[in-house]
Amino acid sequence: MPEIPILFDLHEDVALYFYSGEGYGYDEDSLDNDLKSRQADLPKYRRGNVKLVFSSVFPLMRTLNPQVARLISQGYGGPNSAFTSVASAEISYELIRIYYEIQRRYKEIKLIEEPRDLKTVMNSNQLGFLMAIEGTESIAGPSSIELLWKLGVRSLQLTWNFDTKYASSCMSENDYGLTGVGKALIRSANEYGFIIDLAHAGRKSCLDTLEISELPVLISHANSASVYRHKRNVDDEVLSALKNNGGVIGFTLIPDTVTKSSPKISDLVGHIKYAKENFGSEILGIGTDYFGLFPPDKPPEGLEDISKFSNLWTLLRENDFSESEIQALSFGNALRAIEANAKRWR
Ligand SMILES: [Zn+2]
Repeated sequence: MPEIPILFDLHEDVALYFYSGEGYGYDEDSLDNDLKSRQADLPKYRRGNVKLVFSSVFPLMRTLNPQVARLISQGYGGPNSAFTSVASAEISYELIRIYYEIQRRYKEIKLIEEPRDLKTVMNSNQLGFLMAIEGTESIAGPSSIELLWKLGVRSLQLTWNFDTKYASSCMSENDYGLTGVGKALIRSANEYGFIIDLAHAGRKSCLDTLEISELPVLISHANSASVYRHKRNVDDEVLSALKNNGGVIGFTLIPDTVTKSSPKISDLVGHIKYAKENFGSEILGIGTDYFGLFPPDKPPEGLEDISKFSNLWTLLRENDFSESEIQALSFGNALRAIEANAKRWR
């Protein structure tokens, strides 16, 4: 039996779990318990050989607003709740504080803030959490990212499903791409080595960013639009630009983006295989969106939680993926892109 490959997960809503409960067996003091049907916890991370998790700061809150619910539902093709970005800075601080508390309670978890932290988790039994903010609603201006940086956030997702003053989102009615101040934000992010993330961004926002970013970017949780058409998925032109940029896409378990109904692991493999065959194995990564998959949304059967990724590796081997291609997908490519950014961390 080959050793279990290391896994970097480019997107999980860990803090949201503690912030909102979200009805999946919430237990505030239990990350070190192997809770049945929970998508991730320390025992499952260990069994899955997970070394790094991009831990999302999702600074929006639920609200009762039929108009917004309709807009988001159109994007996902099924009923969704409404969210608002009001008070997103305050919510960000609370979610960041939750990660500090997690680090204090669980010695195994290390927040990734310096390049050497990456080496520490790779060479020990620790698990890295890299704080990643999902959307730019809480950022007053390009120079304000310094505040998030100093709080320990290391990855910046341009948009969630709402347009911002920096960039259009994938649900935009008018995909205007990066605005002037959006370009300034990208330059500012590059200066810090703030890892730019284009998940949820509009097609033009992706292409504009990939044209000007000096550093590799991530599309942390999305799939291929050529395999399954969905607003959250990215088309071939974006994947081709991502390849030229040295960036990585995290293939995701969000069921609506994998296939029409009840996705199977083989459907996910279809996305990964397509990307490999058309753009090469160096763009491949994983971004599950665990803790962001609320019932009735279910990850593909066989990938119900983070400890089960061996099922994916097995199926990839059966689909002629070599061990080195699987390791590039499971962590190698992501590590390369993160390290390129981390050279500028100070
Ligand atoms: Zn997301």
